Amino acid sequence: MASLSRVLGENSLKTDIRSLNFRELTDWICAKQLPKFRAAQIYKWLQQKGVRSFSEMTDLPKDLRERLEAECKLPNCKIDTKLCSEIDDTVKYLYALGDGEYVECVVMHYKYGYSICISTQLGCKMGCTFCASAIGGFQRHLRPSEMLSEILTAQADLGVRISHIVLMGTGEPLDNYDNVLRFLELVTDEKGLNISMRHISLSTCGVVPRIYDLAERRLGLTLSVSLHAPNDELRSQTMPVNRRWPIDELLAACRAYTEATSRRISFEYAMISGFNDSDACALELAERLSGMLCHVNLIPVNAVRERNFQRSGDNRVKRFADILVRKGLTVTVRRTLGSDINASCGQLRASKSQRR
Ligand code: SAH
Repeated sequence: MASLSRVLGENSLKTDIRSLNFRELTDWICAKQLPKFRAAQIYKWLQQKGVRSFSEMTDLPKDLRERLEAECKLPNCKIDTKLCSEIDDTVKYLYALGDGEYVECVVMHYKYGYSICISTQLGCKMGCTFCASAIGGFQRHLRPSEMLSEILTAQADLGVRISHIVLMGTGEPLDNYDNVLRFLELVTDEKGLNISMRHISLSTCGVVPRIYDLAERRLGLTLSVSLHAPNDELRSQTMPVNRRWPIDELLAACRAYTEATSRRISFEYAMISGFNDSDACALELAERLSGMLCHVNLIPVNAVRERNFQRSGDNRVKRFADILVRKGLTVTVRRTLGSDINASCGQLRASKSQRR
């Protein structure tokens, strides 16, 4: 039983009340023979005010608060480590979760507001060789309430409103599909944090069937696809997921996605020196993406202590970008934020696990 609940990401039989949507919470309240209006009060405390305990729900009678305490759980992130960049305003958190696990997220300050990069799983099954998140393997999925708590905890600590979310931290969001979709429903709810779907990006390594599922939902979010190579031979060397769903199948799903949603896809391309950064790679990439509603985001790869590869030099990145632009693609080069605090995904969590 213990191992089954671990797989499901559940650690008790108590109701995970912050993961319920308003309709489910109302049903839950009614099933307990409680007055229906309590649902609106409780939902507001959970989703909008982000309380960390039932005792903070001050407009509820004490006996109801005690009942909630007895029947429900409220998983919260607790700040274990906070790193503030001295170069820019980037803040990185390592949070402790109730079950002894750790999760990390990063808050970045842009001209348009605050953006948070959240984790969707503890560890990751995908095994991309350049990614720190893959190092310790997979532990479990994160619940919708835990993903919300990543945001609520950072907001409360920084005293700011976070307006943008990227699902680009540890984990593969489309491998935790139901929980991620519920999280998206809750975080965009007008009665909750009310973050616009237009301000949310979801990044996937290419779980093809789920891209089709997501296309059907026609959400207004931005889909980022981690491509990182122009052909199957190279991509399969660094991204095992490519052996299951090769590039042609992935791009077919991407085309279906843009057709269904009219949304441009962002292809992520982490540039590794001498591996995927040649002129020939740029030409092949341009060929493959030609005619697609897309944009390419070049990322000088972040070195990971446990791995042996180097980022491409600035001139190489520039030349690669120029070739893509000449071939008619829209290209950006990702700005590095928080480079002094090891801000890229998985690195802090990986170093914590090694200390344990
Ligand atoms: N599993 C999802 C989201 C998490 S990773 C995905 O694969 O898209 C978020 C992004 O960071 C992905 O594009 C991933 O490929 C990239 N990434 C991972 N390790 C990196 C590294 N060392 N340097 C630069 N980007 C990296």
